[in-house]
Amino acid sequence: MQGQMDERPRYAMVFEELEADYEFLQPETEETEFYKDEIYSKQIPNLDGPVASKRVEFGSPGEAFENVSAFAREVGADLVGSTAVMERFVFEGTDIGHPWVIVLGMEMDFDLIQTAPERESGIEVLHVYWKLGEVANRVAEHIRSLGYRATAHHPRAFSDAHPTILHTLSAYEAGLGEVGRLGVLITEEFGPRVRLATITTDLELPQGERKDIGILKFCHGCHICEEACEDGAIPAERSIVREHVKYTIDYKKCLPNFAKYDGCNICVAVCPFNRKPETLKLFIEAVRPVERDGKGPNIPMCPPTPGR
Ligand code: SF4
Ligand code: SF4
Repeated sequence: MQGQMDERPRYAMVFEELEADYEFLQPETEETEFYKDEIYSKQIPNLDGPVASKRVEFGSPGEAFENVSAFAREVGADLVGSTAVMERFVFEGTDIGHPWVIVLGMEMDFDLIQTAPERESGIEVLHVYWKLGEVANRVAEHIRSLGYRATAHHPRAFSDAHPTILHTLSAYEAGLGEVGRLGVLITEEFGPRVRLATITTDLELPQGERKDIGILKFCHGCHICEEACEDGAIPAERSIVREHVKYTIDYKKCLPNFAKYDGCNICVAVCPFNRKPETLKLFIEAVRPVERDGKGPNIPMCPPTPGR
């Protein structure tokens, strides 16, 4: 499959520009050096590998998903979903070559994220990139051991590797949550405090159902993240990007701050959906009735998926 034009900047280009001003980036610590070394020297080179010659047959796409999902959770994923690969979430010039995608989510520690933009918060992002990168590679390896092709797409493959697939929109199509004003996935389980990775495969999987849990509707009346963002990267209005009506982060404004703090997180920390799981459930229930009464805007985020 051939991707389409993407209006987002290439991460590598933005980071190249940042290199000219490298002194403002955070100095490496023993911990950040460890994670980055593991990611780039061990995980990125092992995103793909040989496929077992004998294929395990499944009775249905749902049965195949159960197998892969159980394995993913066993090795550390907190959220698992699947969707067809759609051209609009594949980067320009990328040939994914697989029709299905598994989306994995992993929780970031609540207390560490609350320290944003302090270094602890950024290090937690890196920590989860590392853990989730490991899980994604293991899930891809598991699928290949079943006799199907599978490639992991690392949660942090952006700084010196060509980006391939948009994890956030894949997660939305897989039904893992909604994409809020701050541009990241907001989930029922952890709010925006999750990181995502994907695995594309030729193992046939079920198409997830998009979720409407009232988060996006809440965002229409909430501007907390927009006001908190130091660099004005979060928009007041939605725009249409690749057929999606969505709030689109200005990555040229966000990435320098993200790089400066090694994972900024201010918007994630201040979001009212950033709560511990027990109170998050209550909060979501509390904001839902307002929308049921028709008092909030009810604008769908995206047009229906053609043919689904
Ligand atoms: S990560 Fe930081 S710079 Fe980027 S949108 Fe969020 S608050 Fe703004
Ligand atoms: S801070 Fe408010 S507007 Fe921003 S993502 Fe969270 S709920 Fe939506």
